[in-house]
Order: sequence, then structure tokens, then C-alpha cells
Amino acid sequence: MKLIMLGPPGSGKGTYASRMSPQMGIPAISTGEMFRENIKNGTPTGKIAKAYMDKGELAPDELTIKMLKERIAQADAKNGFILDGFPRTIPQADALGKITKTDAVVNLVVPDGIVIARLSSRRQCRKCSKIYNVLFLKPRAEGVCDVCGGELYQRDDDKPATIKERLEVYRKNTQPLINYYKKQNLVIDIPCNSVDVPPELMVEKIMKELKRIKA
Ligand code: AMP
Repeated sequence: MKLIMLGPPGSGKGTYASRMSPQMGIPAISTGEMFRENIKNGTPTGKIAKAYMDKGELAPDELTIKMLKERIAQADAKNGFILDGFPRTIPQADALGKITKTDAVVNLVVPDGIVIARLSSRRQCRKCSKIYNVLFLKPRAEGVCDVCGGELYQRDDDKPATIKERLEVYRKNTQPLINYYKKQNLVIDIPCNSVDVPPELMVEKIMKELKRIKA
């Protein structure tokens, strides 16, 4: 299955995609994560993307599309993938449509207040990238990843000034994709109206909907 996760920053795309991936046997692919890896490794892609990410803006379409194309051409993605954070613009969606078909688009509908509360308390493992939340999804030991023992940190772009910009960017560039995919009859709306819904419940809800459309 080729699946797209849509939703504002902090809506849970990455958390749910990484839990759905082993259940579905297909990789979760996050362009944000790929950019962070590139930055960590000091690559040319990382150097270009960093300037945009620090400001909460989108990296250039051409750069992002090239990176994504190379990733989905890899062997582990041949039976499908879950895209988290791509596409984020109409040109990116057009480019994806030229490479492959999409089976479903999961649209996480989350009010701004919840997104802001989640992003400002989000933490991530420096080593394995697992996502936590100091209020709602705490690690067993403060500041330490349950899975690999890595250090938990707050992403620079999860700080208040950047969160506001990212939400504006989402509204302007990414929200139009909901209609874009609704016209193709691909969208499954998944509402979330509470800040601390356990991820496993949301994943269960999403998986149920996906099974329904597959049947
Ligand atoms: P994320 O981890 O998905 O929140 O992405 C973090 C940042 O990476 C975004 O704010 C953008 O600066 C950049 N980024 C990630 N995915 C894309 C994309 N599809 N298009 C452009 N920029 C992206």
C-alpha cells in the first residue's frame, strides 16, 4: 500500500507512521527526518535545508522531490510506503503522482490548540529519532530514550516562534492538498480532539479505516 499521512505539524504523523510501519510491513518515510540526518552528516542537501528548517519554512521543492524519489526507489519501498511530511506542496504532489500511484491519504484533523500544546512539549531522541512528549508521552527516565538510551532533545523548530510560522506555512502550502486528494477520492479524515489520546488508539482507528477501503 502506498500511503500519505497529511496533517499539521504535531498532528502525530510521524508517531503513527512509525507504529504502522511494522504492522504493515512497509517503511515509514519522513522527509523531515531525512533532512535532519543530512544536517547531522553535513551533506550539501543538509546545508541547503537547514536555513529553511531553522526558520520554519519549507525546503525547495526540487531538492525535496529529488531526495524523496531516490528514497522510494530503494528496495524496501517496492511494496509500498507510508509518507510522513511529503508531499507538502502541490508541485510535490504532482511530482509524486508522476512517479507512482497513491492508494490512500490519511488526513489527521487536529485543532491548532492541540498542535501547539503537543509541539511545545515534544522531545526527540538524538540517536534513534523516537518521539516523546514531556506531558503526554513521557519516557521512563527523564531525558533518556526508552528504546536506545539516547539523549532526548527539543528540536529548534519546535520552539514557540517557529511553531507559529510552521502552522502558517502548513495552512498556505499544505492544506490545499486535502482538496487535491479529495478530488481523487483518496482522503480518509481522522479527527483528533484531545491532546493526550494514546497513539495506539489512533493507530488502531487508522488501521481499521485502511482495512475498510482495502476490503
Ligand atoms: P517535519 O519533521 O516533517 O516537521 O519537517 C521539518 C522541516 O523539514 C520542515 O519544517 C521543512 O523545513 C522541512 N521539510 C520536511 N519535509 C518537507 C517537504 N516535503 N517539503 C519541504 N520541506 C520539508
